[in-house]
Amino acid sequence: MPDLTILYRGPLSSCNYDCHYCPFAKHHETASELAHDRNCLERFERWSLEQWPTLGAGHGDRLSIFFTPWGEALIRSWYQKAIIRLTQTSHIKKVAIQTNLSCRLDWIDHCDPTRLGLWCTFHPSQTSRSQFLSQCRILDANRIRYSVGAVGLKEDLSEIKALRQELPAAVYLWINAFKRQPGYYTETDIQHCEQLDPLFRINATYHASRGRPCRTGASVISVDGNGEVTRCHFVKDRIGNLYDQDFSEALRERLCPNDTCGCHIGYVHLDHLNLETVFGDGLLERIKKADVFQKENIPTAQKPRSDSLHASK
Ligand code: SF4
Ligand code: SF4
Repeated sequence: MPDLTILYRGPLSSCNYDCHYCPFAKHHETASELAHDRNCLERFERWSLEQWPTLGAGHGDRLSIFFTPWGEALIRSWYQKAIIRLTQTSHIKKVAIQTNLSCRLDWIDHCDPTRLGLWCTFHPSQTSRSQFLSQCRILDANRIRYSVGAVGLKEDLSEIKALRQELPAAVYLWINAFKRQPGYYTETDIQHCEQLDPLFRINATYHASRGRPCRTGASVISVDGNGEVTRCHFVKDRIGNLYDQDFSEALRERLCPNDTCGCHIGYVHLDHLNLETVFGDGLLERIKKADVFQKENIPTAQKPRSDSLHASK
């Protein structure tokens, strides 16, 4: 079996932050709900450590894991412990996670930094820039690779610009287009965002994907807390269960059944966008390759045509 990437999203659905646009804002879970999330994660971790080697590692194939929780996972000790153990395992190629970076970071010292990548989102309404930057400095001190980004709300752009200026130059800052409100961005707004994130226009685009080859379902899958496997977070058709012995037989090349794909964690797997040339090994945690960062030479083929740009959505 070839290298596999798993986007894991367990039942966790709570957060210590209160972003006004988010359904998980300040949502609390009961002790039994949190215990259920922990059990699911620990089962997934056991599969990654013990079962994966029988499928892939015997042939030198490696596993990448990207945690994309609803809510904030790194404030939970079981995610910290799982990430420590997974990064210390030779058949694990990469462990990445999306986080608001609000957690204590003393545990990170126990991770193997060569296998860890963090997708860190700055929420100006929830934390100060200086507090966020002090967390980034801890990551720097521990040689952890990370990207930093924010939702491109217009009221936050000056704060995002200030963050860009204070971040180390080598750290990529991305902006996620706010797509819920039609007509939200003017062309001038888009150009302003591009000055901070040269890839903003790619994120602001709903990429035409129906009938196009996408690696999800073959070398990339989405797994929930029960082990149920779908090709990605955006196509809900079940293709198997990770914990079935024969689950890998369900993996094969598939064309996308959706009209468009508008989220980084999905469209980066579309073959025709060729975004590995931009992100390389940092594709999951959204870290640009160093040479791209230096030159910002986004290939012309990746620049969306104007008819596919829906930055106003
Ligand atoms: S930090 Fe993320 S998960 Fe938490 S409320 Fe804000 S947007 Fe939602
Ligand atoms: S293009 Fe996006 S929606 Fe379509 S299969 Fe790939 S990740 Fe899923």
